[in-house]
Amino acid sequence: MKVMIIGSGIAGLSAAIALRKAGIQVVLFERAAQLTEVGAGISLWSNALRALDKIGAGAAIRNRIEPVSKSEFRSNNGFLIAASFPASKLEATLGHRPVIGMIHRAELVETLAGCLPNDAARYGHEALSVRETGKQVEVEFTNGHREVSDLVIGADGIHSKIRSLLLDPKPPRYSGYTCFRGITKSPSSIEPGYLGEWWGRGCRVGITTLRNHRVYWWATVNTPQNFRIDDKRSWLCDHFRRWAEPLPELLSSTPDDAFYQNDIIDRLPNKNWYRGRCLLIGDAAHPTTPNLGQGGCLAIEDAACLYHLFSNSSTLDEILPAFVKLRFSRTAVINRDSYRLGSTGQWSGKVACWIRDAIIKPAMPIIGVNEIVKHAKNVDRFLVE
Ligand SMILES: Cc1cc2nc3c(=O)[nH]c(=O)nc-3n(C[C@H](O)[C@H](O)[C@H](O)COP(=O)(O)OP(=O)(O)OC[C@H]3O[C@@H](n4cnc5c(N)ncnc54)[C@H](O)[C@@H]3O)c2cc1C
Repeated sequence: MKVMIIGSGIAGLSAAIALRKAGIQVVLFERAAQLTEVGAGISLWSNALRALDKIGAGAAIRNRIEPVSKSEFRSNNGFLIAASFPASKLEATLGHRPVIGMIHRAELVETLAGCLPNDAARYGHEALSVRETGKQVEVEFTNGHREVSDLVIGADGIHSKIRSLLLDPKPPRYSGYTCFRGITKSPSSIEPGYLGEWWGRGCRVGITTLRNHRVYWWATVNTPQNFRIDDKRSWLCDHFRRWAEPLPELLSSTPDDAFYQNDIIDRLPNKNWYRGRCLLIGDAAHPTTPNLGQGGCLAIEDAACLYHLFSNSSTLDEILPAFVKLRFSRTAVINRDSYRLGSTGQWSGKVACWIRDAIIKPAMPIIGVNEIVKHAKNVDRFLVE
């Protein structure tokens, strides 16, 4: 069987590794001219790390992550609201380490690509249309190239072309806030392994360390969709001027070309992830807001699930519905919970935020532990044979 994957992001690369391990012939097509992943950091939870172990990429990625050892919630003046989970206790309970690891996105994508042969991906190929030809499917690319395979996997992200050919091409849902991100050198005040969320009114900040003495920060702000400013540093320094250190120091020390901005968008769950011989995975299938740090982790889980199904079933008529059955409800719950968490985190009313922070104090340690255990155990269905 030959499988064509469209998109070489986290989902496409992980799926290519998984399918090759299951003995399937895979061709990967990417519209970018070369392997490129900018952006900042990304959290990989134990569910994703275990899924990477399953497809054979775990050791390579684990070498490049920074394990999270301390996590906490603070208010914008630096006041500690709650510690969210005891990392070492949870590692002992779950039997795997770490429960969350942080990595630079470029390093994640580069390491995944390194698990494939050099010629596995064909760059400069942007998928344009898909046509069923009997039991096979043909993709046409904007450069005129055509390729036929037994299955096309659309791993082409939230604005997926393949999705728009299968489902109604509706625009994603805007959450009401935008997210700025950056990476800078770590100040001495931040210990390695730190992960903190700082909640204000109508804005939140995340601060965490990466390997090699770097800090990855993110900041969400309620804005109209497509709000853009040229000088992000000045705007952010002004917007967050009353926040406690280390945020002002991090914003000042971030290099000009290391500021990124994305509007936070997702889509309501829709389980029509396949039609004929086309299947959607990753953000193309189940995009979620990043509030639970799970979008990329789910894309990696998808790959481990494909490995499980292709290793244990022989026909696509079995594999495609089984994939949706194993993956839909899990991804739909994360989509809902992540959206709700983000909306609550972005509240801006003074009294509402005061009540929210008072409730977080006792609740967050329990929620933090529950989330981690839930994610860690949820992959057992297709990780444990
Ligand atoms: C601010 C922010 C923070 C986040 N933080 C986290 C986190 O901490 N942890 C986590 O797990 N997730 C996080 N996520 C989510 C995560 O980034 C995504 O879920 C993940 O990148 C999805 O991977 P993907 O491969 O499905 O899609 P993408 O990363 O979008 O990759 C799609 C690929 O397809 C290519 N492509 C697109 N169209 C075509 C075409 N027509 N033909 C050929 N190629 C095409 C693109 O060039 C790209 O390479 C975050 C997201 C945001 C916005």
